[in-house]
Amino acid sequence: DLPKLPLDNPQAKALNYVESTEGLTHPNFKPGSDCANCQFWTGGDAEWGPCTLFPGHHVAAKGWCSAWARKA
Ligand code: SF4
Repeated sequence: DLPKLPLDNPQAKALNYVESTEGLTHPNFKPGSDCANCQFWTGGDAEWGPCTLFPGHHVAAKGWCSAWARKA
């Protein structure tokens, strides 16, 4: 398994990555969006999985970042 993406990773910070969307108030955040339904997520049904924007790490299925885009 890959290590969890650290919240203080520079790119994670640049993209406002969070491990949970609960209470998230980022202006670009659309309720219901999270890593698990993002086009960059390749983790299937896992709680943590790969994101093509963060190679070498796993992100949280219930997480989010400002690069979120709906899975096609
Ligand atoms: Fe999550 Fe998508 Fe951001 Fe990757 S690009 S961290 S899957 S919201």
